[in-house]
Amino acid sequence: MSKGFVALVGAGPGELGLLTLRGMEFLKKAEVVVYDRLVSEEILRISSESALKIDVGKKSSYHLVGQEKINEILLKEALRGKRVVRLKGGDPFLFGRGAEELELLVQNNIPFEVVPGITSAISVPSYAGIPVTHRDFCSSVHIITGHKKANEPLNIDFESLVKIGGTLVFLMGVSSLKQITDGLIDAGMDKKMTTAIVENGTRGNQRKIVTTIESLFEETVKKDIKSPAVVIVGEVCALSEKYDWHAKKILSGEKIIVTRPKSSGGTLSSYLKELGADVYDSPCVEIHEILKNEILEKAIENIKGYEWLAFTSRNGVKVFFNYLKNNKKDFRILKDIKIAAIGKPTADSLNEYGIFADFIPEIYDGKHLGEGLCELVNKQGKILLLRALKGSKEIINIFEKAGKKFNDIAIYETSYINMNKDKIEQLINEKNDIYVTFTSVSTVEGFVKSMGKIDFTKIIGICIGNQTAEAARKYAIKYYISDEATIESIIKKFLEVKND
Ligand code: SAH
Repeated sequence: MSKGFVALVGAGPGELGLLTLRGMEFLKKAEVVVYDRLVSEEILRISSESALKIDVGKKSSYHLVGQEKINEILLKEALRGKRVVRLKGGDPFLFGRGAEELELLVQNNIPFEVVPGITSAISVPSYAGIPVTHRDFCSSVHIITGHKKANEPLNIDFESLVKIGGTLVFLMGVSSLKQITDGLIDAGMDKKMTTAIVENGTRGNQRKIVTTIESLFEETVKKDIKSPAVVIVGEVCALSEKYDWHAKKILSGEKIIVTRPKSSGGTLSSYLKELGADVYDSPCVEIHEILKNEILEKAIENIKGYEWLAFTSRNGVKVFFNYLKNNKKDFRILKDIKIAAIGKPTADSLNEYGIFADFIPEIYDGKHLGEGLCELVNKQGKILLLRALKGSKEIINIFEKAGKKFNDIAIYETSYINMNKDKIEQLINEKNDIYVTFTSVSTVEGFVKSMGKIDFTKIIGICIGNQTAEAARKYAIKYYISDEATIESIIKKFLEVKND
């Protein structure tokens, strides 16, 4: 069997966008991904679902999987002919034992490549508004490990560091912080020297403290700062206030759980993250196409009998056009039919298929779609409504009341999936007023079903539409209703709530 290949990839400090393009290419093609604790879930998700993912996460005090074992895993997978990615936080060659992991590969002539990553030593200070060098303050930067072997003192030459006067960046410094600050002061550093500690840098839950070196340890204990954190010592820390672009983002410090189905959640989360929120993606419903659909088949055969085709969701559009394609039905069968969309997002989905909706109600909901269509449809005209199984009765009632002819056909159904209950409970307990976005009634039901009996008054729902809000009220979830069923509108609601 031919030998495999190992790419030693730096994943950067956590934020997805800080992974390199080359790292992403390797990840997409990987058959095996061996990853550390510091690698974010988001980055892992780039690799294919079928890739074997091996967690060798190291905690600072104990090793989940020892170094030798990791080396062996890499060799074994490569010998099986696999394309392996060894994914490490930051840059693999900076305090990451990257070189050690290549040793066994070299001995066995396994081809490998190293993909450098953005190191936390420079990027994490940047995300806290601290440039590690600045002409006015220093002419060097030093990166030091605060890690020490059990029962041994720190092996750092504090005198030399103080003498040289550059910016000092300590990685793995949380557990030895007291020794580091004492060591520097004892070596003659000014007790008022500015310092900073940045926890979970570049991630949604980033926190920082900027203070003098004499108070840093105490403040860190007070605020319960934990690893991973970068410690920065030097006058450049004083610039942090002025340049802290990250903390100034409008949703900075807010936690938001996004419960959308996987296929449609992406963009909402990325907008919220862009605004600085700490977003946890946890879909609680899933979409399934109704594949064997005789009723739909019949409707398509008689498509000429319909005047209007109406869609109430983006999923409906996607599922329908997939259905046509998979069943080799030419899109031109729709050429004489008018098409309505419940709102702009649904209309945008239609655009992707080269179709521009003939009608979108001014207010994006079932009631207004129904009423609008009743006015537009000819006396003898018939409406084909393609949507989810167990959709709301509202639009149907409107058609019936107006005596309109229609067919309501279910083309997909949603089912609940279990959320990570422990993780969500932890998030809720960590912070009062955590937000949860609910984009449909089914997301509320799915969330409640997953979470069981928890105190729902601790969360704030941001709901799309009245029906979704109604469902939230049923479970005593506090909520706000976004004016429209669009991502823009949800974001607008967040901003209004924040500015309240
Ligand atoms: N190779 C990595 C460093 C590995 S050592 C790199 O280049 O970044 C692990 C240490 O990196 C942690 O103890 C912490 O000091 C730092 N670190 C990594 N990611 C971090 C993050 N997102 N926020 C703060 N510190 C981080």
